[in-house]
Amino acid sequence: MTTKRRHILGFWAGAALLPQHLLAQDIPLWTESDLRQALALRDATPTDNLAYQLVDSLVTEVGSRPAGSAADPRAVEWALAKLKALGFSNVRADPVAVKAWRAGPVSVDITAPFAHRLVATALGNSVGTPAGGLEAEMAYYPDLASLKADTSDRAKSRIVFINQKTERSRDGSGYGGAVMARVAGAVEAARRGAVAVAIRSIGTDRDRLAHTGGMRYDTQLRQVPALAVSVPDADLIERLQRYGRPVVMRLNVQTETGLDATSHNVIAEVPGTDLSDEIVLLGAHLDSWHVGQGAIDDGVGVGIVCAAAKRLLDGGKPLRRTVRVVLFANEENGLSGATAYADQYKAVRHQLVGESDFGAGKVWRMRSKVHGDAVPALQQMARWLAPLGIEAGDNNGSPAPDAGVMVRRNQWPGIELTQDGTDYFDWHHTDNDTLDKINPDTLPQNVAAWSVVAWLASQSSQRFGQSPAA
Ligand code: ZN
Ligand code: ZN
Repeated sequence: MTTKRRHILGFWAGAALLPQHLLAQDIPLWTESDLRQALALRDATPTDNLAYQLVDSLVTEVGSRPAGSAADPRAVEWALAKLKALGFSNVRADPVAVKAWRAGPVSVDITAPFAHRLVATALGNSVGTPAGGLEAEMAYYPDLASLKADTSDRAKSRIVFINQKTERSRDGSGYGGAVMARVAGAVEAARRGAVAVAIRSIGTDRDRLAHTGGMRYDTQLRQVPALAVSVPDADLIERLQRYGRPVVMRLNVQTETGLDATSHNVIAEVPGTDLSDEIVLLGAHLDSWHVGQGAIDDGVGVGIVCAAAKRLLDGGKPLRRTVRVVLFANEENGLSGATAYADQYKAVRHQLVGESDFGAGKVWRMRSKVHGDAVPALQQMARWLAPLGIEAGDNNGSPAPDAGVMVRRNQWPGIELTQDGTDYFDWHHTDNDTLDKINPDTLPQNVAAWSVVAWLASQSSQRFGQSPAA
């Protein structure tokens, strides 16, 4: 046992004023005063709903904001102005080089066995068709696995259709199991000589509404247009297949790809004191797809983490480590902001990185991804969240996309506050991602959870990363 820990235990022995269950900690890593503040942060009941006000303002004053679009610099200006007005320190915008993609008009029709227009959208990063469009017979695959397993020449010169279904789930695992059809479908289709790929939307709704999202090409293979059709349209294609009716599709997809542009990571801080060089990072992404308003993805995350940091700022107690809000550039089409941040700040010690990017549902679980020595500390943190209805999870967490980049690239300790995503993929990446999908009443619980996590990470006498000794 270190001298420092004995000292803390000695201090702890005098913590008679705290409720008994709070004294039942295995390894006291926080002072009595710090733990009292955690309670105050968790149980605060502000009359405003700052998280909701912020997302309302973002989607109303800026709207959808793809990286490299005309709305992108307006979003950055919006964030800088809001964060300054809220009273944060060191508010700035770090430039990030992005490859922008622009979606133009899309039309997708079945021309045989009868004429029928489908509801469709281009997948993010997709090339377009020739100006006059293209028409070909469809090669149907029930899922990505069956396409990958196909060693025949059935897909050659055809439009591959992948009918991958997305299961509804609270934790997003249904999306995780389906999304590779969107990401990798074009590569698998091109490998088999196809002229385009169309997929069933990666979504759980039954609306005639198509879901976009990122996809990749293999530079060694032909780049073929990639699009998604609505779930009911995919069901029709499935039935036509079942009835043995060959389907011919005509596509006209206009896009621009690989446009050089500059976006920005927007940063704001609540400065620390004795450990101010160490960072506790609360992230969200500022960009969205071109469809909808980017309300649940990820305007609400922007609102939640800014409001959580504001609660620390207003808490009146000095922080040991610096809490830094990072609103990442271009999460959607390449994680450019996260990658740039991880490289730019590689030498700076990060105590914990987390991101809110799973909609507006309540948090129901906390998982970590930290050095093994820090797991007991994270388990204690989870106990402080329990009264918010949050379960303690394992140390095998998968922090949201931008935070995940940093956990993998820099081995920084990560945290996942798992939100209820049961409905998230009904609206995700569609024209229905609009403000009305957010229940304002679920946001204060998110804000409380992130503020407690950030506070305890900031004040801990233990480091959560590879050198856990304080
Ligand atoms: Zn997102
Ligand atoms: Zn997204």
